[in-house]
Amino acid sequence: MNLIFFGIIGSGKGTQAELISNKFHIPIISTGNIFRRNIKNKTKLGIQIEHILAKGHLVDDEITVQVLKNELKKTNLKKGIILDGFPRTLHQAKMLEHILSIDHVFNISLSEHEVRTRISNRRTCKCGATYHIKHNPPKKEGICDKCKRKLFVRDDSKPAVVKNRIRVYKNKTEKLIEFYKEKKILININGNLAIKEVFKQISDKIIELKKK
Ligand SMILES: [Zn+2]
Repeated sequence: MNLIFFGIIGSGKGTQAELISNKFHIPIISTGNIFRRNIKNKTKLGIQIEHILAKGHLVDDEITVQVLKNELKKTNLKKGIILDGFPRTLHQAKMLEHILSIDHVFNISLSEHEVRTRISNRRTCKCGATYHIKHNPPKKEGICDKCKRKLFVRDDSKPAVVKNRIRVYKNKTEKLIEFYKEKKILININGNLAIKEVFKQISDKIIELKKK
């Protein structure tokens, strides 16, 4: 089963992809993680990507697809694959058609209000610890449990930035969603529920699809 996971920031898409991967033993390829790993290890590719990102550009489709192809060669595809963070553009989706046949696309949707609530409730500490005011609050309000420093709101969690990220995401994925909808392989998942319930929706769906 070859799957794609789409989901807006705050939708828990990455978490769901991992839970599904563990349950059904399907490996995940996350191009974002591969990029980050290469940058960290200062590989030739990593240095190239770092230059692109430093200029504020997006990694172009050709490089991204090449990275995906290399990773697919190294992966056992017997049980299929989960693609997380790919394709990001319609062009990438069309290139993917020549590489892999996709069976199902899960789109975890979340209301804009819910995205804002989830992101604005995030708190971070300099030590790397993260909290959520509602779901994972620190013992003492505004103070890190681990190092007792004051918690703060990350720049990319600020309302104006979140608003912009939602707009960019919608612009980019709208065409992709439409593309897979036309192919009749798009499955919409209600991401407004708790992680456990969203997971249940997706895994029930996969079990149902496997029977077919
Ligand atoms: Zn801390």
